[in-house]
Amino acid sequence: MNKRISVLSIPIDCVTMQEAIDRIINFTKEPGLHIVATANAEMVMLANQNPILHGILNSASLVIPDGAGILWAAEKQGETVPERVAGVDITKELFRVAGKEKLPIYCLGAAPGVAQQAVDNLQALVGPVPIAGVHDGFFDKEEELNIINEIKESKAKLVFVALGVPKQEEWISEHLASLDGVVAMGVGGSFDVLAGNIPRAPKWMQRNRLEWLYRLYLEPQRIGRMLAIPKFMWTVIRKK
Ligand code: UDP
Repeated sequence: MNKRISVLSIPIDCVTMQEAIDRIINFTKEPGLHIVATANAEMVMLANQNPILHGILNSASLVIPDGAGILWAAEKQGETVPERVAGVDITKELFRVAGKEKLPIYCLGAAPGVAQQAVDNLQALVGPVPIAGVHDGFFDKEEELNIINEIKESKAKLVFVALGVPKQEEWISEHLASLDGVVAMGVGGSFDVLAGNIPRAPKWMQRNRLEWLYRLYLEPQRIGRMLAIPKFMWTVIRKK
């Protein structure tokens, strides 16, 4: 079992990409629903104001260090997280492994057509993957029931949900709790990136922990939400 640390009362699993993949594949062989979350500074700050999200993260099977802020906070606490495991990257790797191990995948979320485009791009990259279903993330209550039934009946082993934080985590916890031997993971804007609609930050920016800055450059309207990053840093420093 990998070390689990706490950043502002949110658990973070100190895993590498490979360790995260191995744990997730093992979860599909264990009973129950396994929630996997990808944590960044924004999510940690939100969870500290949202008891539902806080509870979900604290009972999640795996909380992946997705954001550079998490690595920074761990260092400030005198701990080390081995590497950043970005949601987009682990989604790609899980498609690769699911293809090899024949694990059906269900993709829910993003604007109409986006998740399907992401699936097509990923299959072009990693080869055939069993797809249990694909649905966009804009649905009414009636359609929602169909989606939940479809996921349950599809025998999906990996369910990727892209509805944004905290909607995706709350949706998974509220609607998929009865599933068995299934991993459900919130992936935020990953389908938009994997569909090719939003470019990924250049490698040098990723290496220098500046992916958030590139995101802000692409989507300046995120500035309000991104104020959570300096607030997060300030809270970590003050707590120390
Ligand atoms: N989204 C959705 N349904 C909704 C709200 C959002 O499918 O009701 C999608 C949206 O199209 C986008 C993703 O959820 O693809 C959220 O991306 P964002 O980058 O905002 O995620 P976060 O930063 O919250 O992880």
